[in-house]
Amino acid sequence: MTENKEQHNTDVLVVGAGDSGMMAAAAAREAGVQVTVIEKEGTIGLLRLSNAAVNSNAQKRAGVTINKAELVEYLASFAQHNVDQKLLNLWADHSAETVNWLEDNILKPNGAYMRSEPDAMVAGDIYKAFPTENDPTIDGKSYISYGDWFVQWAKDHKIDMRYHTELIKLIKDGDTVTGAIVKNNESGEEYQISATNGVILCTGGYSANKDLLKKWNPEALKKNVYNDSPRNNGGGIIAALEVGALRDQEPAECIFDRGLVPAGTKTEDMYYQTETYDNWLWIGSYPFLKVNLRGNRFANESVPYQFITNAASKEPGYLYAMIWDADYADRLEQFHMLGCAKFGFPGYMKDKQSFIDDVDQYVKKGLVVKADTIEELAEKLHLPVENLKKTVERQNQNYIDHVDRDFGKEYFRMSPIKSKPYYGCILGGRILGTLDGLRVNEKMEVLDEDYEPINHLYTAGNDSGAFFWGSYPDRVPGLCSSHAQTFGRLAGKNAAKN
Ligand SMILES: Cc1cc2nc3c(=O)[nH]c(=O)nc-3n(C[C@H](O)[C@H](O)[C@H](O)COP(=O)(O)OP(=O)(O)OC[C@H]3O[C@@H](n4cnc5c(N)ncnc54)[C@H](O)[C@@H]3O)c2cc1C
Repeated sequence: MTENKEQHNTDVLVVGAGDSGMMAAAAAREAGVQVTVIEKEGTIGLLRLSNAAVNSNAQKRAGVTINKAELVEYLASFAQHNVDQKLLNLWADHSAETVNWLEDNILKPNGAYMRSEPDAMVAGDIYKAFPTENDPTIDGKSYISYGDWFVQWAKDHKIDMRYHTELIKLIKDGDTVTGAIVKNNESGEEYQISATNGVILCTGGYSANKDLLKKWNPEALKKNVYNDSPRNNGGGIIAALEVGALRDQEPAECIFDRGLVPAGTKTEDMYYQTETYDNWLWIGSYPFLKVNLRGNRFANESVPYQFITNAASKEPGYLYAMIWDADYADRLEQFHMLGCAKFGFPGYMKDKQSFIDDVDQYVKKGLVVKADTIEELAEKLHLPVENLKKTVERQNQNYIDHVDRDFGKEYFRMSPIKSKPYYGCILGGRILGTLDGLRVNEKMEVLDEDYEPINHLYTAGNDSGAFFWGSYPDRVPGLCSSHAQTFGRLAGKNAAKN
């Protein structure tokens, strides 16, 4: 360590300025204590646009009601109860107040508001869905980002924001965490921040750290060819483990099925980290024909985003191909996709032309290929020609007969491959974040190996655990960011009470 040039004192130290960290800081500051936020990058993290809630003001205005007990049991059963159901209840009880706070304090003063999305992605009895999504908007037709407004709020409320400042380690005095050693990444200087009320870890999980993934979630390195959270390298979790914290023993993650790769890619050779959605194909989540690298269909394509990458992980090579035809843009609306994949707001592609432009940019890059015959398409995608031909014939017959004899896809989500040119691409998963983390109690205090709280150590967001297991339940849209913001707010409030 270089010499201590500075010793800084605060009441609450928040580590990481993303969804959970900014909320934690605001809540602690509103409770009247001094707050310092350290963030290792030069900006705050992107604050997410879709936030789940159970009966927020926006939902009340829209006439949306959600049965809390039903939703909580759904989430617990989605995770086979490998979660702490008390935390699910806690989230459900506090999610609305968090979304309302955001609307009242950050959006409304800037002319924006929350819009509730009443439509929920119900494609069948098995995949139940809940209209939990709240989207910040000014015009009701598009998203509005609110990160800059939040930063201004922090400034107006005298929160000490320290950028380029990274957590190195926590300081523990006896049983109590009393602060942290941090490093200014620009000057290289390390110094101590003492935090009278406690430290809140909000560093967003470990998806950027390949070594930790190898140790804690090796399958994620095979399922995913992209990581969309390159800032989050597990710093908070590691620091907590060093002071005796307990963490989840089984992995959980949020994966989107939109990662385009060149034909011939080997998943073990690729883990590309991007913050700018590089090679992200929006129609990747649409239920077009998907085949394994042997040209055979392997699962129902009409499933939550993550499930097709889970299914592909049981196939040779982990990656899969998607095949569609020239009429694809006319079918997109009929599929009735929701969440961020929806055709039109609150999806990110506002109309047919936006989807076409998205596909065309990848045709130009060679990541989506076009062909006038299935043979040619198979060759371009490195798929066995005869298998692909048979699979396409079978798919077309199923479509004519209105029944998916193989995997039970609903008719409204089926499409034939008949109009030329035919399109194809190779896809793999994009991890948005790891969701297994440090064990916490209902005050967001980090637990030690005896399941007792470590005094004055808190966590929230993807650093915290026991809320998700396995896959992300995307039929509860906005749950990830709401989990981060809601628990960040609770951590901030509780730390301020010490
Ligand atoms: C592309 C994308 C789309 C998504 N879409 C949705 C969606 O539609 N709905 C939804 O619910 N969720 C979505 N998510 C997930 C959601 O954004 C995350 O679950 C949520 O942001 C996690 O919040 P967090 O506070 O834990 O981490 P983050 O918001 O990622 O914040 C972590 C912060 O900690 C900083 N940091 C890391 N290490 C250190 C350190 N050692 N010292 C100091 N600072 C550090 C990082 O730079 C970062 O700013 C999406 C995620 C991605 C990547």
